[in-house]
Amino acid sequence: MRYLITGGAGFIGSHLADELLRRGHEVYVLDDLSTGSIDNIKHLKSNSKFHYTIDTVLNRAVTAELVDTVDVVYHLAAAVGVKLIVESPVRTIETNVQTTEVILSLANKKKRPTFVASTSEVYGISEKVPFREDGELVMGATTKGRWSYACSKAIDEFLAIAYWKERKLPTVVARLFNTVGPRQTGQYGMVVPSFVRQALSGAPITVFGDGKQTRCFTHVNDVVRALIALMDEPKAYGNVYNIGSTAEISIHDLAKQVREVTGSKSEIVFVPYEKAYEEGFEDMPRRVPDTSKIKNLIGWEPSLGLPQVLSEVQEYYRRTA
Ligand code: UDP
Repeated sequence: MRYLITGGAGFIGSHLADELLRRGHEVYVLDDLSTGSIDNIKHLKSNSKFHYTIDTVLNRAVTAELVDTVDVVYHLAAAVGVKLIVESPVRTIETNVQTTEVILSLANKKKRPTFVASTSEVYGISEKVPFREDGELVMGATTKGRWSYACSKAIDEFLAIAYWKERKLPTVVARLFNTVGPRQTGQYGMVVPSFVRQALSGAPITVFGDGKQTRCFTHVNDVVRALIALMDEPKAYGNVYNIGSTAEISIHDLAKQVREVTGSKSEIVFVPYEKAYEEGFEDMPRRVPDTSKIKNLIGWEPSLGLPQVLSEVQEYYRRTA
């Protein structure tokens, strides 16, 4: 099979490329390197089944040709990272909405099954934990930059589902919960790479807020396995799935674990949200997925825990520093 991965030089996209190639498929990556990196795919360049194009999805002619060439499309290109999103809401909204519009309209011409990546951010500040796919999405005011990301991804979801319902384009949406692993960069604010880098350099580990907020961290290899199985299952078309671990940990405890795993002597410091992001920043106190929907469909469950991720991430940063 031939696959197109938009955002294929990014963290999750490059791991997806690795796995599809390992399974003998042909992979086409389209990435504008805005947040992705050529370093993530350079080891694949010598593989004759691997092809890459450095361009934006918004270059319609280039994207159209790639969509025509492949059997299945994974649309992962997006503006990501809370820090980037708060700092550049225009870029976030435009990138996330316009690229999905282009991909779905082109995929529809040839009816190429298309996966659209969404995010647990869409649940916003909902208190109905664990989050179910059919639950309500509760977002904050439009004056707060963070919610532009959630809303832009919610629009992507609406669009993907509408293409299935109205035009019979096979689409699948997944909401990814705090995916972590090697190649994720701390540059855009993600907590695990940030903490690991701080710990390795002996710098203070910066816990935002009181550190009592919780997240569930999922190994990228588990996520990739789910993405592939979902697109192999026609019953998934037109549906939305949570993909995430259900093991909850507070950010303060995460900081302690990172210190332990890395053997670091870094002190743990608490930074108020308004200093870390912007005045009036809203964080979600808990974020836990209900994963029964994907489990019932394809039997997916995460298999790799946080200790494994942290040791791989520290190894990655020691190697690439
Ligand atoms: N966080 C933190 N220190 C950092 C980066 C993030 O305490 O250096 C916190 C952040 O405020 C949030 C959690 O860690 O509560 C997860 O942040 P991330 O940006 O990785 O993902 P989010 O779940 O917010 O999308």
